[in-house]
Amino acid sequence: MAEYLASIFGTEKDKVNCSFYFKIGACRHGDRCSRLHNKPTFSQTIVLLNLYRNPQNTAQTADGSHCHVSDVEVQEHYDNFFEEVFTELQEKYGEIEEMNVCDNLGDHLVGNVYVKFRREEDAERAVAELNNRWFNGQAVHAELSPVTDFRESCCRQYEMGECTRGGFCNFMHLRPISRNLRRQLYGRGPRHRSPPRSHTGHRPRERNRRRCPDHRRGRF
Ligand SMILES: [Zn+2]
Ligand SMILES: [Zn+2]
Repeated sequence: MAEYLASIFGTEKDKVNCSFYFKIGACRHGDRCSRLHNKPTFSQTIVLLNLYRNPQNTAQTADGSHCHVSDVEVQEHYDNFFEEVFTELQEKYGEIEEMNVCDNLGDHLVGNVYVKFRREEDAERAVAELNNRWFNGQAVHAELSPVTDFRESCCRQYEMGECTRGGFCNFMHLRPISRNLRRQLYGRGPRHRSPPRSHTGHRPRERNRRRCPDHRRGRF
């Protein structure tokens, strides 16, 4: 019996534990879900909820019509966002194994940024500190995530370009970064930079820190 329960843990057959929360770290029922969301007490992965704002979804003029934002601009904006978040988190908290951003539209997945650190203690510290931070005018909401294997959480149809559920799919639709940026962020050999251990003054320093002119264009 115990073996059977272990084999179905976190799958659709499991009537107790929510398979969506287990695999994707987010479920559309949120706190009202009838199944359990087992929040991890330690994990290599953190999620920053709703952090990425796709300008194609948010750009609206005063009369409610959509501004035109080209695909090239969106990719550039996204690459800048990705690089900034990745670089800052890696410098502050420790080596990142992988980072993924959801391009879904459902409230529980839209703009979620998943960061998998190499070490659990780095993830823990990141969550504790990031919850006191602001990013582009909104409070950051960070938590430890049960997601460890992104192949399990991704929508396979989306990767083949054939997901019929579109943005409201409940599996992750991960937005790819450009090839150059991928090479730049992941392509270095073994990293030797040790993260700075300063614990002081993150908030004001953060505001002054934004050097990259792309983030002053006020697209948010
Ligand atoms: Zn659930
Ligand atoms: Zn899908």
